[in-house]
Amino acid sequence: MDKNVQEEQFKGVIKFTPPLSKQRYQFVKDLVAKYRPKKVADLGCADCKLLWMLKFCSCIEVLVGLDISASTMKEKMHMLSPLPVDYLQPTERSLTVTLYHGSVAHKDPCMLGFDLVTCIELIEHLEESELKKFPEVVFGFMAPSIVVISTPNVEFNTLLPGVTLFRHPDHKFEWNRAQFQSWALETARHYDYAVEFTGVGHPPRGMENIGFCTQIGVFVRKYPQTGGFAQSEKSNETVYKTVFKAVYPSLKDEKYLQNILVGEVVFTAQIIKQSLLNRLTSEREERHDNPTEEKAQLQPCFSEDMRKLDVKRSMESFVKGNVVYIPLKTIFSFPKVNQLCGTFEKLCKLIAGKVNLSSDGYALMLSTEPEDEEN
Ligand code: SAM
Repeated sequence: MDKNVQEEQFKGVIKFTPPLSKQRYQFVKDLVAKYRPKKVADLGCADCKLLWMLKFCSCIEVLVGLDISASTMKEKMHMLSPLPVDYLQPTERSLTVTLYHGSVAHKDPCMLGFDLVTCIELIEHLEESELKKFPEVVFGFMAPSIVVISTPNVEFNTLLPGVTLFRHPDHKFEWNRAQFQSWALETARHYDYAVEFTGVGHPPRGMENIGFCTQIGVFVRKYPQTGGFAQSEKSNETVYKTVFKAVYPSLKDEKYLQNILVGEVVFTAQIIKQSLLNRLTSEREERHDNPTEEKAQLQPCFSEDMRKLDVKRSMESFVKGNVVYIPLKTIFSFPKVNQLCGTFEKLCKLIAGKVNLSSDGYALMLSTEPEDEEN
């Protein structure tokens, strides 16, 4: 079929499922799943949608967004804040999300040491002078392990309804595949990266020769990470302005670990206490039904000295007066508590002063009275 006739057929019916922007984000998420980067920066992050998706990737500990438009970033930056559930159930990983206002044409030391830098639909928005500086800033200065750059493939435009010159009025240029690949190959060669080309947004069947709607270059640094000295040598003064910063609660932070641990310890102690009280009640009832056994059973249960000796040996909880004593060793043996603090010494250190302990620090004390606990 004649090429023009074919193009006319598709014009107006091209629809990507999922939408093209989602396909680009998914491409980045797949890269993250493959390379498991810890530090990721999204240049030209706009309204932070990609950053929001990336904050759920468990390998990422530092997430940074940069854009020349502070107002665009601010529109939805609240989405990057921790949620109440993040405080209720802090995870093991630490996560800091920061947004900077600045240009990719300028170097700032806060952009050093990244594993992955994403530039999704950014370069076509750069002025000629900015595009000239871009490779030196991203590949020369930031020099992350991986850079991913996506940009429109102008060859696809003939299939897009309503597109005459460029897809967006703010685009300064749109490249065909040969133009993008020659720029990318030259950049990769100059800064010692390897680059591979792919894309998202498949062309319709029979039109494969026009390529993907969005063309993508994935650059992988060929040389190893430079050490701290070389990085600090590179540092020049800060030029970006911080517009947002969120530090997510993490169990790596002792403050959150202590809160969660104390909660878990008290919860565990309550369970032990309840099962002990239930057992003692049913034993008492049994003795009441069978009075001849009563004496023999009561003695080991309430004789204090014997009990102390016993507990030290056996980790058993016991009742004295209206207090339930639950040895910390017993609480430590519960998997969740054990997992949280790792060592018995750490458990003792973190709960000290936060729970009611016996004078020898051996057992946690809870009242047998439910009302007191609530207070
Ligand atoms: N990356 C986003 C995404 O895929 O959803 C959106 C990209 S948007 C099409 C281009 C963004 O680049 C805009 O938010 C614009 O403000 C930003 N931008 C343009 N020139 C820039 C520059 N010199 N430095 C940093 N960001 C720039």
